[in-house]
Amino acid sequence: MDDLLITNATVVPVDRLDRVLRDASIAIRGRQIVAVGPTEVVSAEHQAREVIDARGMVALPGLVNGHIHVLTALYKGTMGGFGFDRTAGEDIALCGVATPDIMLAASRLSAAEMLRSGITLANVAGDAVTFEVARQTAEGLGQAGLKAFVQTMVADIFGPTGLTGEAQLAEAERLVREYHGAFEGRIRVAPSPAGEVTTSLETMRRLAALAEREQLITHMHVFPRWPMATVTWLVRGRSPLGLLKAGGLLNERLVAVHVLAARGGDVAALARAGASVVHCPSVWMNVGIGPRRWPPLKALHRAGVTIVLGTDSAGGWIEGADLFTEMRTCALMSSFLYGAGVLQPMDVLRMATINGARALGLERETGSLEVGKRADIILLKFDRPPVQPSSDVPAMLVYGACRGDVQTVLVDGRVVVRDGCLLTVDEREIVAAAAEARADLYRRGGWKLGPDGATPPTTSWLERYPSQGVATWGARLARLARLWRRFSGR
Ligand SMILES: [Zn+2]
Repeated sequence: MDDLLITNATVVPVDRLDRVLRDASIAIRGRQIVAVGPTEVVSAEHQAREVIDARGMVALPGLVNGHIHVLTALYKGTMGGFGFDRTAGEDIALCGVATPDIMLAASRLSAAEMLRSGITLANVAGDAVTFEVARQTAEGLGQAGLKAFVQTMVADIFGPTGLTGEAQLAEAERLVREYHGAFEGRIRVAPSPAGEVTTSLETMRRLAALAEREQLITHMHVFPRWPMATVTWLVRGRSPLGLLKAGGLLNERLVAVHVLAARGGDVAALARAGASVVHCPSVWMNVGIGPRRWPPLKALHRAGVTIVLGTDSAGGWIEGADLFTEMRTCALMSSFLYGAGVLQPMDVLRMATINGARALGLERETGSLEVGKRADIILLKFDRPPVQPSSDVPAMLVYGACRGDVQTVLVDGRVVVRDGCLLTVDEREIVAAAAEARADLYRRGGWKLGPDGATPPTTSWLERYPSQGVATWGARLARLARLWRRFSGR
């Protein structure tokens, strides 16, 4: 006897054959998919305790979010129009004042948003600067029923904490010991450098050894050209990818986020290493980087690099993690930049599913609907406008579907969203706790939050950088900038 049978669905398995199965069923036993095929065959061979009649619905693998900052779930609507430097700076300043309670509330909210919008696995950036805060990310995501990789950042040069590299590595190892494989194996840990410029080669090598020993991924922002390359050359005397290579981190474990403005040599180096790239289109459109600095998607795709979509952060653009919007934006930007047809709808669908699983080393476990894999499945309402009439289902998923169409979500065979409602946690409680956490976070960060908007402090974010040394230099620079403005009348 199986546990669950999903019948009469249009199944898009995202398998190697790019099939679309009409009137198909999926049988689930425990955490696993035990059959996928025509309804008449599967339902004749499989009896189950529960049957979900998915007539008028599309079944897809649970979406994989390649990169997200969960603390930013509290930033909604407060940083629109800031541009890149200021968004990143205000984010670092707020991360520095986040308490464990604030991080727990943000993580639970973010997990709720993701599950409701069909994301079953997320690669979460380490917004936390200490172990006590980082563990709350694992707790919040795990409790909500999501699968997630929790990054813990190690930075021993201009680091946001006063901790030595040694102490940070010890905290990273502790997080691995306590949370890697926690929550029935759904939570994993990814100790990673905070950035190539902020982590010494010695620490990178020790992180690489830890990743090798424990079979972990390395999750980091990588800016091979802009805006970090100049700083990296000035401070470290090497290119960003050169530093990663010297630190033993440029390999198939590397999940490199953004790679803005990467050139041919960078693409070749990433492809040779077998590294994956995460592309987060909405956030870069919003901060206005322009086409010249756009990640070289066409070249990466041609070079066979695994490209994964990510939602990155919230603050005033696409609010709440939404991979349907990222899929559509990715496809439209690709046509805008390279001409129509460079990316096919199935290519984009893979970027939101199986590619993410591959990048995270979970290709055997999830990312497609195939016998033997975990039952990470989403069902979308698909029998109504605007997605009907529909002959090309992958195209309608990319260009027409939205997160509101997600009806049912299964993680490891367990129904966590039914009829669009989250079953694992109390949403009202999560929303109330998040409102409180946001007020606390912004007060600590020196912002004024009013009913009509949010006002950041008048000081530059560099002066509020979490590490005292950098903040002191930031204050000096800010004084110089103010003098310059007064002197030049700007
Ligand atoms: Zn990011």
